[in-house]
Amino acid sequence: MNATETTDVLIVGSGFGGAITAYHLAAGGARVTVLERGPWLRSEDFDHDFKFGSSATRVFDFVVGDGMSVLGGNCVGGGSVVYFATMPRAPRFVFERHGSIGRRMWPAVIDRDVLEPWYDRVAEALPITPTSWDEVPYIGGVFAAACKAAGHTANPSPSAVDTSLCTNCNWMMSGCRFDAKRSLLLNYLPAALSHGAEIRPLHEVQRITRLDTGGYRVHYNTIHEVDYRQQTGSGAIDAKVVILAAGTAATPVILQRSEAELGTMPHAVGRYFSGNGERLNTAVIEEDKVRELLGLSRDEENAYGAYQIGRGPVVASWDRLNADLPEYERFSLEQLYFPPGFGTILAQVPDATGPTWYGPEKKEMLRKWRSWLTVFTMSEDDNEGVFGPPPPTGNSERLSQQLLGFGRLRYRPTANTLRGWEVSDAAVRQILEHNGLSRVMPWTNDVIGAYTVHPLSACRIGDDPATSALDDRHELRGHPGIFVTDGSAVPGALTVNPAFTIAALAERAVPGIVHALRERGVDVRYGAPAPDGGGAARRGTAAAARAVLG
Ligand SMILES: Cc1cc2nc3c(=O)[nH]c(=O)nc-3n(C[C@H](O)[C@H](O)[C@H](O)COP(=O)(O)OP(=O)(O)OC[C@H]3O[C@@H](n4cnc5c(N)ncnc54)[C@H](O)[C@@H]3O)c2cc1C
Repeated sequence: MNATETTDVLIVGSGFGGAITAYHLAAGGARVTVLERGPWLRSEDFDHDFKFGSSATRVFDFVVGDGMSVLGGNCVGGGSVVYFATMPRAPRFVFERHGSIGRRMWPAVIDRDVLEPWYDRVAEALPITPTSWDEVPYIGGVFAAACKAAGHTANPSPSAVDTSLCTNCNWMMSGCRFDAKRSLLLNYLPAALSHGAEIRPLHEVQRITRLDTGGYRVHYNTIHEVDYRQQTGSGAIDAKVVILAAGTAATPVILQRSEAELGTMPHAVGRYFSGNGERLNTAVIEEDKVRELLGLSRDEENAYGAYQIGRGPVVASWDRLNADLPEYERFSLEQLYFPPGFGTILAQVPDATGPTWYGPEKKEMLRKWRSWLTVFTMSEDDNEGVFGPPPPTGNSERLSQQLLGFGRLRYRPTANTLRGWEVSDAAVRQILEHNGLSRVMPWTNDVIGAYTVHPLSACRIGDDPATSALDDRHELRGHPGIFVTDGSAVPGALTVNPAFTIAALAERAVPGIVHALRERGVDVRYGAPAPDGGGAARRGTAAAARAVLG
């Protein structure tokens, strides 16, 4: 019989929550092993193609649920490989939200001021930089001018894109082959490797069991590199501390599956899922109105050219991120590049006489796809998603070799969430239909329900054991030595893109994990600089780290 492998820290998943903790703990001297279910792609592997087997199908995980579908990353680097790299900080009011529980959702010890120095660390590490108007592509300018004409403000969003390397190829969703998008493949992960961390791709963790020593055994299957439905082997690794960072669509499922052997899970595991209140609206812009009303012009008859319109979301309107507005009526609107393939299915004909999703009127609408402008809404939902019993393996029953699976998430939007969508849809129409600039195509939920690229909260931090799975140090209640540092730890919708906040929380969780390792006899230090050696932001977090480490 083979002896089971051992490590100090076993990390599940290599997105923000996994990469950041892997780096700091490896740099501090711990033995770190990262298991990642997806493949490991390098810059040259990121294709400009949608064909099967290209990076577009290899690096995504699209899980269709009951009323909510979730799109996420599936590769070393996780969601950072596929993201649009728009990186705003969460507004101050978000930390004070009550949501569905009628009292503050966030732990008392965390508010925006507390998180600020941890945001700074991430901003230095990736790095995240402001975007200037010179860098805004034409479509962002159209959205900004439309906002101004309708009496709203708009601003370029901070981003983790090196614009000096960006070619505006518009394939950033399938991974950046120019190293312009600052994914985790360029900073935390190589730094973790240089400190001895081991990353194993195509290793899908299934469950965790307890060891008599107080540590944990993590059980995984190895996955076929082309057909992810096929299991090529299995194994287990023993660890003193386990960090779950498999993303919100997967972390709660691993814990649910582990419950039979690990013991009762906190009630909040697999509950309080938030889709970040997301919603898409697409408008067909009238070209002559762009000239007449906004005074903008473009070359030839090719307004946006869809794939030639520039990077992902660049300009956002933050007028409604106003603490004085009632909860559920606060949201941000972001001009978003969205592949026409999905839009073709989901955008509906306004005021159609026949079916809204099919027929001559839809065909006419599709003919104008070069003039589509998509606006992405992030609002406040009610944490109403609940995961059903876990599937036999992974977090979904995989339907195709790559990309697509059926999951067990059930989401029925409450009246609060629906009100938020109604108010934000009206705001989008007010901006984009002002003076006949465009017609907004309603984006139906009828076909596949709601959808999110920003799943949050199904294993969240908080003070109340009844409504939070983790304490304010991200440790799983009742299971010491298991930490969760991904999006599932965030208490609720953020009204903006969440990766920066997930990353800041992961940075903040590290001292507590170092403390847990030391308690288990691992000689590990805390205090590594940014992955490139920069130390400017480290000073801001030193006192908070000392308070945890003593
Ligand atoms: C198309 C798209 C665009 C986006 N754009 C933005 C943006 O502009 N700004 C922003 O803030 N956010 C954006 N996001 C969201 C952002 O990517 C996520 O919020 C973020 O990556 C979540 O981080 P995480 O640590 O929770 O998990 P992830 O980054 O999702 O990492 C989880 C990792 O765990 C792996 N995993 C899952 N299950 C297992 C298992 N059982 N065993 C081992 N490994 C497993 C996954 O393959 C994945 O690599 C975007 C997302 C998408 C899909």
